[in-house]
Amino acid sequence: MTRNRKKKLAIRAEANGTGNARAARLHTPPPNEVLTADVQERLIGAFAAEGWPVENDGFPEFGRWAGWMGPVGSTLSRSKDFGSDDAHPDDPDHHDLTVVPELTFIAPKIPHTREAMVLELPGTTPSAEIVRTVRDELGRARAAEVGKSTRKATCSLCGDRYPTGHLLPSTESDELLLCPFCVFDGDILGSHPLRLAFAIDDLTSRDVAAPAGWSAVAALLACAGGPELGERLNEVGGLRVALPHWSDPDQVWVWLPPDDLPPALERLRPGTSLATLVEAVETAHPDLRDRFRAQVADTLEEDEDDEDGGSAPDYLVEQLWPAAICYAVAAATQERERPQGTSPWNLLEDGFEEGNLADNFHQLGSTLDAEALGNVFTLSIGVPLIAEVLGLKPRF
Ligand SMILES: [Zn+2]
Repeated sequence: MTRNRKKKLAIRAEANGTGNARAARLHTPPPNEVLTADVQERLIGAFAAEGWPVENDGFPEFGRWAGWMGPVGSTLSRSKDFGSDDAHPDDPDHHDLTVVPELTFIAPKIPHTREAMVLELPGTTPSAEIVRTVRDELGRARAAEVGKSTRKATCSLCGDRYPTGHLLPSTESDELLLCPFCVFDGDILGSHPLRLAFAIDDLTSRDVAAPAGWSAVAALLACAGGPELGERLNEVGGLRVALPHWSDPDQVWVWLPPDDLPPALERLRPGTSLATLVEAVETAHPDLRDRFRAQVADTLEEDEDDEDGGSAPDYLVEQLWPAAICYAVAAATQERERPQGTSPWNLLEDGFEEGNLADNFHQLGSTLDAEALGNVFTLSIGVPLIAEVLGLKPRF
């Protein structure tokens, strides 16, 4: 069997979905050849290791590999003539494998939208350098886009002004368009979280300057909805497919404040997955949950004169705790990115209302006790406390 024949078989095995990138390498390529399968595997692995949410088809289409890292889309190909050749980019009959393939990174991740970042790097760039460059460029791109925003729309509830398209419908109504911090307010009746979920994906996939607060709303819906939420969304979504973060809130992308961060968060700028954020916060502050419980106890003592003397119930709802951390960080990001806007901290004082949360949880098919007081406590007491502990909340 010739070398090329062997390689073709390996490539076909991979294209049939019977293997992963390793299947394309039945033998070691000569040192001057660069296999795109290797480059793609290293790329996805490097971003995953840095705590980014990653998605990867695992096979090339029309001669190129695609990947998604948070708000960034990547392509890897050997030829600039996209679509002209659907041969595998590592097929030696179609390509000179000594030609270094090229990586292209775009943000937002949907091609041919308003591209705020287009970055090209040779496929042989060291992984650490790729991650660092994408991180820096993404931060710059977001800052530039946020700076350019003109605020022509008005939140139907708080009246704060936002760029057109940045306010979303959280009910059946197309007229009631809200900012991220008004979604769970008690004045909002008839919530439609499944519709809102798709609206959040539409906005954040197409606009790199989307308000940071929508990550927190997504985190809360996904945490409450549980692992079945993605399936539920797919049932109602018609042709639309729910993104992975709806079934796995660990994958929610969170933008971090652009300046003045505590050491625990500094290395995660400009953004990270919710899982990485939660781990960083909890590692830096292992007493955070105890402080929450103490704060709840203090609050209840202030509100209630009598003490029943029994052991206090635990109001911390574990399932919602990552969402509380997400709100604390996302609110700080929004406040610093748009200092001319209404302070998210003011809006969040009454931002989580029991009836509204219960309505949302029912519609999400949440297994949480929708009426439990802990839901509101975890959010309305947890969010400001977490922000204060992290040094993210301004003191008035
Ligand atoms: Zn609002």
